[in-house]
Amino acid sequence: MSVFARLFHRWLRSPRTWIGLGILVPVGLVAVCSMMLLQLRQDAWDKAEQTAKNLLTVIERDIDRNVEIIDRALESLVENLKMYDLEELSPKFRQRILFDGAINARDLNALLVLDQYGNCIYDAAGWPARSFNNADRAYFKAHQANPDLGLGISPPMMSRSVGKPVIVLSRRTGLPGGSFSGIVLGSLSLSYFDRLFAHLELGQAGTINLFLGDGTRIVRYPEPDLGPAPNFANAPNFLRFQREGRGSFVAATQSDGIERLYSFTRVGNLPLILNVALSTREIEAEWRSRALVIGTLVLALCGITVGLSLLVAWELKRRNAAEAELAGESRTDALTGLPNRRAFEEAFERAWSEARRRRVSLALLVLDADHFKRYNDRHGHAGGDRVLQALAGAFSACVQRPGDLVARVGGEEFTHLLADIDPEDAAHLAEQVHGAVARLVVAANGTDVGRITVSIGLAYALPRLGGSPADLFRLADAALYAAKAGGRNRTCYAVMGVDGAEILRPSPPLEIELAQSTVPPDAIPLVA
Ligand code: GH3
Ligand code: MG
Ligand code: MG
Repeated sequence: MSVFARLFHRWLRSPRTWIGLGILVPVGLVAVCSMMLLQLRQDAWDKAEQTAKNLLTVIERDIDRNVEIIDRALESLVENLKMYDLEELSPKFRQRILFDGAINARDLNALLVLDQYGNCIYDAAGWPARSFNNADRAYFKAHQANPDLGLGISPPMMSRSVGKPVIVLSRRTGLPGGSFSGIVLGSLSLSYFDRLFAHLELGQAGTINLFLGDGTRIVRYPEPDLGPAPNFANAPNFLRFQREGRGSFVAATQSDGIERLYSFTRVGNLPLILNVALSTREIEAEWRSRALVIGTLVLALCGITVGLSLLVAWELKRRNAAEAELAGESRTDALTGLPNRRAFEEAFERAWSEARRRRVSLALLVLDADHFKRYNDRHGHAGGDRVLQALAGAFSACVQRPGDLVARVGGEEFTHLLADIDPEDAAHLAEQVHGAVARLVVAANGTDVGRITVSIGLAYALPRLGGSPADLFRLADAALYAAKAGGRNRTCYAVMGVDGAEILRPSPPLEIELAQSTVPPDAIPLVA
């Protein structure tokens, strides 16, 4: 397995990886989903704004064109009235001359001429004209007062001639700036607007409003104003229409409190302001339901991801713990609780490399119970086991530094590994072990097993001079053999020479000549 594959494998087996993934993946999902939903929302708004703009353009053009047609009819009527011998003509001929220009004006309800007193004198509907006086109407008074008014557009009112709600378009007759001789007027039925708006798709709460320049609302669709036309001259939304002329904004409608997207424009050059208002709730309605579905799905996916990740992490943790326990067990001797041979060998390899790197010494004691078979023979296997446990306890009690390692490497064979130690201290430790073993009192089946002794092979090395852990072990084993051969219950010493060369120092005497081992390696005496 390559290094990367191993690293990847280890990464996959770590519970942290899965907890991390369980957090990162949902966070990523939520981020991507949020971006997508925001984009969808923006699309919905763009679409609504475009729709409102299109509606506005269509309506504005239609109204502008119709008003223009009526105005042309009024202008032609004003011109025709200037003919000086009009009264001389026969009524039928006069009607044709006066009202011919108005034939094309669709949606025109009434086309009338009023004299300077407000009396209806000519009527496109026929001769004689219907009899009524409109001198009281605001549009009449306005023309009377202002010769330069041009085209007048009235607020909605009930027509006296046709009895329907209309707006009146009017022009003054007579020469501009000259004496007032009356007005011509055409009335446009409000039903024209209903017909115009009828097929437009505005949603449930969408509205269309047409205002006069002074804030009077001419028409409201789909719910018409009941009673006199309301005036919005001081309403914030209307002030904005007036100020900006054309554009769009989002605001609440004063009358019903519903938030709407207002798109507005002036109608041509006329004193009319038109707006199309779409409910923001409806603009976002489709997006909302989609967002709900997508959001729910993503959250569910996030939940599943988090759940699964935690499950995998928990399972891995459990498995890793079980494996660690197994690994611990496989490195521990069941009888004595000491590290076993396998654990010793791994630690020995590491200690050797470490000592070579740090340029320090390594001492290995191999300890073997003397005539151990006898304990088994006299006290049974269980008795022998008790002795082994007692020995393990005695050896462990002699450990003075945290880095030292005592292990059981065979039946009644133990090791004690010491790093960065002087030869005298290692020898002293061996003596301490003999002392501790000598003090052991072990009972088996109610009787004392008697004196217990061990033989020790102590090998000392400076790993930086060469050799291997196996060389040091062999050397310690050889020293142990020497100790056995020398009568047991003693320690024999050995020093590893350059490149693992074997130099054995049998015992007695116990005094060893390694005191100089702390001096540079070349100066270590190779004791024969
Ligand atoms: P020497 O002084 O030469 O070492 O003699 P010895 O009797 O100690 O050595 P030998 O190698 O002849 O015998 C070791 C005995 O240890 C043989 C074996 O039955 C016994 N033994 C090995 N493992 C265990 C164990 O786990 N429990 C017990 N009770 N005995 C064991
Ligand atoms: Mg033995
Ligand atoms: Mg043995």
